[in-house]
Amino acid sequence: MRYISTRGGMPPRTFREILLEGLASDGGLALPQSYPQYTTTDLARLRQLNYRELAFDILSQFIDDIPPADLKRLIDNTYTAAAFGSDDITPLKTLEPGLHILQLSNGPTLAFKDVALQLLGNLFEYVLAQGKGELNILGATSGDTGSAAEYAMRGKRGVRVFMLSPEGKMSRFQTAQMYTLQDPNIFNIAVKGVFDDCQDMVKEVSNDDTFKRRYRIGTVNSINWARVAAQIVYYFKGYFAATQSDTEQVSFAVPTGNFGNILAGHVARMMGLPIKRLILATNENNVLDEFFRSGRYRPRGSKEVHQTSSPSMDISKASNFERFVFDLVGRNGNALRELWSRLEEQGGFNLNETAWMNKLPAYGFVSGASTHADRIATMRGIYQRYGVMIDTHTANGIKVGLEQREAGVPLICLETAQPVKFAEIIREVLGKEPDCPPTCRGLEQLPQRVYVMYPDTDALKDYIVQRCSSGSKNNNKIKNP
Ligand SMILES: *Cc1c(COP(=O)(O)O)cnc(C)c1O
Repeated sequence: MRYISTRGGMPPRTFREILLEGLASDGGLALPQSYPQYTTTDLARLRQLNYRELAFDILSQFIDDIPPADLKRLIDNTYTAAAFGSDDITPLKTLEPGLHILQLSNGPTLAFKDVALQLLGNLFEYVLAQGKGELNILGATSGDTGSAAEYAMRGKRGVRVFMLSPEGKMSRFQTAQMYTLQDPNIFNIAVKGVFDDCQDMVKEVSNDDTFKRRYRIGTVNSINWARVAAQIVYYFKGYFAATQSDTEQVSFAVPTGNFGNILAGHVARMMGLPIKRLILATNENNVLDEFFRSGRYRPRGSKEVHQTSSPSMDISKASNFERFVFDLVGRNGNALRELWSRLEEQGGFNLNETAWMNKLPAYGFVSGASTHADRIATMRGIYQRYGVMIDTHTANGIKVGLEQREAGVPLICLETAQPVKFAEIIREVLGKEPDCPPTCRGLEQLPQRVYVMYPDTDALKDYIVQRCSSGSKNNNKIKNP
């Protein structure tokens, strides 16, 4: 398996060559040269496998430059009942016949990002150990991404994480999840400012090529191909759990932000999984709903982004969308490059009245958006009808999923976070305390460790340099609550 770039300007590379990278060398995103294919006979065989075996079968199609025994061990060490609450890893909960929730948020940080990032942590450690290399992951977070990255990389040899967060701006639970980590390779930095200040500091460091190379600065953002690949597995798992035969079709409803989760569904469908519809759900930040309805793609300016009660879906543009458009334009790198330069110059493009628009229905996407009021009504409705609590992100997916549901086609709604992460709103809407899995009990009472900094990029660089010099320890102060 070789990987090419969506912009057509990268010689084919292996999985390990693209694993630690952000953008491809030509500014595009890496994708497999072709998608592996499963026949109905293959599906019958896959149906018998447990999560770890299924993950190995699927991922070894994409990763052929790690010896199979090693890849198997990495997967077996990642997807354990200890880390994900049960051997099912992503259990299916049936609300009524033909209506299901696929639970993706039983990992260490209680959000679906764990499914991919826990594997990424082990892949990074393995590849770095072989090359005797080091990696310093630098990121900014307003919540879910930072904690999922830290729990994936904690204690991993060769990796340090420097994670910036706006001081006092995250929920109590999210703050506790990150700042209570005591691992010496995890550096939490609270910035006296807002999320945009954090992001600007990361950008400035990343734009300094010399510094970046010298201190081996990397990221773990959602354009990493290995993350998408790991997510393909649970579409298969969910399909097998909801069906009895290998020709039956199902539809998936996916709460969408950066188009990472639903892109994995698209790839699963291209590989031969019988998916009828991929139902894309946005919140008020409806860039993608607009595209799938009209053919027009217009990323928003940062001032146009709504702060919503489903914050992990508050996006201005969808970074993984480029990979889907590459398939839509017949994998023509020149056409893709032309569209993306139009994005730069004119702030958008419109595929309406192009031949590509006629091809869109064949990919099975339908879409919809929801408002705060819709989320509240959905959370209440699902609790009253089925006694099941859902979080605001999952509510977006279920709301749009139910609108697009078709008789006779099982609907699988992806759960992307657990309600306890957003306890305040659950109390407000349901008048109840959300369930708290054992890993999160007492979390807010544990000592926290964080370094506080003004939004000053030079101070950040100094901080990184000091922590990278040999023998230096994590001397961030530990505060007792
Ligand atoms: C990241 C996230 C999403 C959006 O997923 P994408 O892959 O960016 O589309 C949805 N819900 C939750 C809870 C998330 O953390």
